Amino acid sequence: MLSFKSYIKPKNIKEAYDLLQNNNAEIIGGATFLRLSNRKVDLAIDLIDAGLDYIKDTEENVEIGSMVTISEFEENPILSNLFNGYLKNVAETILSFQMRNIITIGGTLYPKYGFSDLITALLVLNTDIYLYHSGKISLEEYLKTKVHKDILEKIVIKKEKLKATFHYIRNSEYDFSILNVAVSKGKKVKIAVGARPGVATLAYKAMEYLNKNGLNENNIKEAAKIAAEEIVFADDIKTSKEYRKVVCEALVRRALLEVM
Ligand SMILES: Cc1cc2nc3c(=O)[nH]c(=O)nc-3n(C[C@H](O)[C@H](O)[C@H](O)COP(=O)(O)OP(=O)(O)OC[C@H]3O[C@@H](n4cnc5c(N)ncnc54)[C@H](O)[C@@H]3O)c2cc1C
Repeated sequence: MLSFKSYIKPKNIKEAYDLLQNNNAEIIGGATFLRLSNRKVDLAIDLIDAGLDYIKDTEENVEIGSMVTISEFEENPILSNLFNGYLKNVAETILSFQMRNIITIGGTLYPKYGFSDLITALLVLNTDIYLYHSGKISLEEYLKTKVHKDILEKIVIKKEKLKATFHYIRNSEYDFSILNVAVSKGKKVKIAVGARPGVATLAYKAMEYLNKNGLNENNIKEAAKIAAEEIVFADDIKTSKEYRKVVCEALVRRALLEVM
C-alpha cells in the first residue's frame, strides 16, 4: 500500500520544486500509477492547485500544462482536431474514459514508462518538454537523458502539416501494449517504436533509408525490415523479443503504407 506522512498542495511550481528537494518527497499527478506502489512517502506534493491545468493555442504551437488529463485530448477542440484527430485516436486507446479523466500528461511523460502509448505517439511529432529546473528539451533527447527531482511543467507540440498514425498490439483492450508503433510523414518520415518493452525510440536507420530513397511499396517493405533489425527488443512476462521483432516489422509496414 502507498502511504503519505504529509500531503501538500502548493500554489505554484516554484513552491512545488523547492518542497521536492526534501528527502523522500514525491510529486503527485493523477496518482493512478503511484497508488499501485507499496511505499511510505514522507511528503506528497499534489500539483492540482499549481496552475498547470491549461491548453494554450498559439500560432505555431499548442502548449499543454502537465496537469491536463488524457481525456482532455479527446475533448479539447484544438487537440482533438490536431493532425486530423491523431492525438484523440491515440488517447482513446488508453484504458477507460474514467481513468483518462484522472491520468495527467506529467504523470505520463515524466517517468518514461516503457509501455506508454502516448510517448510513442508524441515522439513522431515535434514535441518539446519543459522541465522547471532543467528547462526545454526535445522529447527525443529527454528520453535519453537522466533527470532527477525535477518537475515537468508543460509540453509543447509544433503545429505542422503532417499525416500521422498509431498502431499497437495488445492481448486485450485494457491491457498494456505488447508493442506500439507511430509513424508521421511531413517533410520527412519519422518512425517510433515503443513497449519493446523499453521506452519508445526512433528507428533512425529505417527513417534515413526512407528519407533518402522515398516512400513506395518496395521501400516501405525494406524500411520495415530495417526497423525490426535496428530496434532493441527484450523478453518480458507478456511475450518474447522474437515475437516483438516480427510484430514490429508488420506494424511499421502497415503504418507506413497508411501515411503514404
Ligand atoms: C492500471 C493501469 C493501466 C495503464 N495502461 C496504460 C496503457 O495501456 N497505455 C498507456 O500509455 N498508459 C497506461 N497507463 C499509464 C498511464 O497512462 C499513466 O502514465 C500513469 O497512470 C501515470 O499517470 P498519473 O497522472 O496518475 O501519474 P502519477 O501516478 O501521479 O505519477 C506517476 C509518476 O510520475 C511522477 N510525476 C507525475 N507528474 C509529474 C510532473 N508533472 N513532474 C514530475 N514528475 C511527475 C510521480 O512522482 C510518479 O513518480 C496505465 C496506468 C494504470 C494505473
